Formats: sequence, structure tokens, C-alpha cells
Amino acid sequence: MNNGKHKITGEEVNAEHLLDEEGVDPHGYYCPGCHAGLVLCSFLSSNKQRLHFRAATHFTDCVYIARGLALAEGAKGKADTRMADRYNLVSKLIIRPDKPQGLNTIGEDGSTNPKDRPFGTSSNSESTERLAPTNRVTTLLETIVDDFLDFPNKRHISPLSVPGVNGDKYHMVFRKINTEKAADYSEIKIYYGELIFSKPPRLSENHIDVPICVWVFNAMEKKSKRHDFNVRVNLTSASPQRVNQITHSIDCTRLEQSQHYDSKEKPRGYTFFLGRYVEDQGFTVNSPNMVCFRCTQIRMPDFFKRKPKDA
Ligand SMILES: [Zn+2]
Repeated sequence: MNNGKHKITGEEVNAEHLLDEEGVDPHGYYCPGCHAGLVLCSFLSSNKQRLHFRAATHFTDCVYIARGLALAEGAKGKADTRMADRYNLVSKLIIRPDKPQGLNTIGEDGSTNPKDRPFGTSSNSESTERLAPTNRVTTLLETIVDDFLDFPNKRHISPLSVPGVNGDKYHMVFRKINTEKAADYSEIKIYYGELIFSKPPRLSENHIDVPICVWVFNAMEKKSKRHDFNVRVNLTSASPQRVNQITHSIDCTRLEQSQHYDSKEKPRGYTFFLGRYVEDQGFTVNSPNMVCFRCTQIRMPDFFKRKPKDA
């Protein structure tokens, strides 16, 4: 599993954010669902594997057991199961004000400082208020991305609140980069696009540039053509560890894609980020914590699938 809670502070963390962090106790975390002890695996950067938590045994009724069962049923083509309903897909992404991040001007109470709000967007604190008190709050983009990927049939019904983003369901907050038209991406969303592994990310003092692409079908030439975009992640508030975690996660994603090259599903490496397209700059991400990388096959909800013909 990807998330664990710290035994002393109770803070929920994503395993990948612990790479090379000083003083990390691999046994210092517990399951957010049932409080069973967890072990942090592969937490040195010399280990070319994505960091994750392993639980010896979850307690009965742990939502992560329900999640695991729902995912196993999803893999068999039954993604809409009662098990998925037991796993509570209600999230509010909070960007903590105590951390110096670009998009951090919305407090836990939903209060905002309009002067500092980037991109001139309106606050959607109203919708966050409506979700309380059943919110499963997360400060981590990864948690929301994993729920989006794992439960395709819940995207249209599960509420989600991300500060600065219009829309209160998963399918409204996420946006696939599927055209070459930059004007399509002027709103703040959680965007996702395919990583280009032949072009390595470029690291500079204040940002990292991550190349991504979209394949667009050209009817005249009767073939798909690749269109490249750049995702610029602001690193001015990032620790050296966080910079390392980002490049390590890209490396792990590349490795996972090559390992599954011969599999039937052929998962691809994707970048997910909270940001928008800015004229002459490309995609911009203000916070180093609002980007993550996954090797995955993005499943569409079942109702998009063609119905079998009646015999
Ligand atoms: Zn558990």
C-alpha cells in the first residue's frame, strides 16, 4: 500500500515522500484503515523500486482489505462492487498553509486569501463545506490519483474537492491531455499525460521540466502524430530530498513500464499534476508536492465500453 500514518504525529504520508528522509523509522507507521503496524519497503534511493508500505496483517474490517478485494474484482472486470462501496471514496485535497507552496493559500477551514490566490480563480470552499463531516481528508495528491485510477466506475459519483478547481466529482477534477490545443487546458485541473522516456526531465535550480506527450490522429496522413508538452514544476520551496524523490519516482515509473512491456495490459508511464497551461510557458505546477508519477493502464468506466451485441 502507498499510504501510512506516523505512529507519533498521526500524519498520513505517502511512502514515496519518505525516500532518503533523515531519521525515518521503517517501523514507525501504521495502517490508516485499521492501525495495524506497517513496514516501509525500499526506502533508499539505491533501491530502484517504488517505495511502499507492507502490513503483516490488517485487522478484520480494515477498509484497505475492502479496497484490495474491490481492486481484485475490478481486475476481473467487476469494478463496481459492494467492496468498492465499503471503501469510502470521499476526499478533500488540502494544501497545507504552513508549507511554503505556491497553491497553499487555502486553509483547512476553506478560508482563502484572494490576494495570494494564483491564476485568479474563485474559491470552491462552499463545496468543501458541504462535504463535511464525512470527508476523508488528504493532503496528498497521490491518494486522490490512486482513487481515480483504481475506481473508474466511481468517478462520476464520488465527491472530491480540490482548492482552486471547478467541479466536485473525480471526473470533473481530472482532465486527460488528449488534444494538442493548449487553450483546452487554461483551467486549473489535475491533468495527466504520458511521460516521454526518450527525453529525460531537465533539472535546474528553481524547477524541473518534465516532457509529456499526446498522440493525435491525423486524418489526412491516416496516422497518429506525437505532440509534446512541457510540465514545469516549481521547486523553489522543495527540499533536496523532495527533488530526489521526484526524479526517483520518474525512474521507477520508467522501469515499471519496461518491465510490463510484454504484458497484455501494456501499462504506460503517466505524470499527474495540479496546474494549468500558461501561454508561452507550458504547463505549470506551483507546488513540488502536487505532481506524481504512475505506471498504469487508465481504465475507462464500464458505461463507455461497447455493449455486446444481442445474439
Ligand atoms: Zn489496515
